[in-house]
Amino acid sequence: MTIPDVAIVGGGLLGRLLAWRAALGGLRVTLYDANDRQGNEATAWVAGGMVTPQAEAVDAEPELVAMGRRSLSLWPVWLSALPTAVHYSDTGTLLVWQRSDAGEGRRFEAMLRARDTQASYERLDAQQLTAKEPALENRFREALYLPGEAHVDNRQLLPALADALDALGVECHWNRRVEDTERPEARLVIDCRGKSAKSRWKELRGVRGELVRLHAPGIDLKHMVRLLHSRYSIYLISRPGGNLVVGATAIESDDCSPVSVRGALELLSAAYAVLPEISEARILELDCDCRPALPDNRPAIRYSPEARLLEVNGLYRHGFLLSPAIVEEVLTVLPQFLHNPGSTLGASPRWPSLGAREGVFACH
Ligand SMILES: Cc1cc2nc3c(=O)[nH]c(=O)nc-3n(C[C@H](O)[C@H](O)[C@H](O)COP(=O)(O)OP(=O)(O)OC[C@H]3O[C@@H](n4cnc5c(N)ncnc54)[C@H](O)[C@@H]3O)c2cc1C
Repeated sequence: MTIPDVAIVGGGLLGRLLAWRAALGGLRVTLYDANDRQGNEATAWVAGGMVTPQAEAVDAEPELVAMGRRSLSLWPVWLSALPTAVHYSDTGTLLVWQRSDAGEGRRFEAMLRARDTQASYERLDAQQLTAKEPALENRFREALYLPGEAHVDNRQLLPALADALDALGVECHWNRRVEDTERPEARLVIDCRGKSAKSRWKELRGVRGELVRLHAPGIDLKHMVRLLHSRYSIYLISRPGGNLVVGATAIESDDCSPVSVRGALELLSAAYAVLPEISEARILELDCDCRPALPDNRPAIRYSPEARLLEVNGLYRHGFLLSPAIVEEVLTVLPQFLHNPGSTLGASPRWPSLGAREGVFACH
């Protein structure tokens, strides 16, 4: 029997997407995940699923914004190729702020203009905002509209990718934890374990994120809504079935224990300030997980020729924003390592900063 070209360890967001695209490209792929095909232990299960390059431009480098734009163009094409439907909406983001936080709105706009040369947004007054998003009627005096930004239903995506892997005959080992001391048989192993790869990639840290899922059948937001606030910045996303996602806190901590009272209060009171109607919504879930982050909060790829091991990690708060662009890049460099296992990883062809950055991360 021929050994697989690639064994992917970790079938959360990145691992599943990569396994699917690699198999579509004709590689023999096996996938190992510590949990089941539903994916409900992956950080991706907890996430908001937003693909918002402009909204992130204020805090992220231009290269990440460009990768986000690339992902934004890939998501609808890739999702339409899945055998199972996944909800995807690209109606854009509305940024709103209370009158007392007008400075936040000004700062955001100035930063967006300064950092994103392709920035495209509209300023809205109260009337224009109400016309665009009736649920926010007369609640805010002004807003910014970032068109084209999107969100993917993460809860539908993970099982849909598992279906796609089945359809391609990819050997998936669900509920199979791979220990650091093991090496699945393959010409190349790719580690996509997210936060769990800390045992091998010492610089990884967790950034705790808490999020609330509500059942709010009377509320149907047509856009993602972000509240800019000096202390409690949150977003609200309507999902099919009358559900509403409210996220997310960001706390420098590896503590992935359940949502704190403070986290729940902050998220819900900020959401209530945006939409008082949520008072009658039902709380479905209070979710928490840790985003896998490297010291500079950028993703990275590193390669160990001796172990024939490629590691891709550090997706931080940008897993959905960046993973299609990262997968594309990994597939570009894969042939090099499959055909010449002794080679080293230089700067990645399209996104140079994705290559392990000298001096920032320890090498193997
Ligand atoms: C509250 C919150 C909100 C977020 N919102 C967004 C958002 O709106 N937009 C966005 O772009 N990003 C968002 N993120 C970030 C995003 O979820 C992550 O960047 C992304 O999920 C990381 O993907 P990953 O594949 O690296 O890790 P994961 O999705 O965690 O997948 C890792 C997989 O590895 C498996 N695994 C672990 N150890 C082993 C082992 N030893 N053997 C086998 N398998 C193993 C796990 O079971 C898991 O399935 C959010 C994160 C949080 C916490």
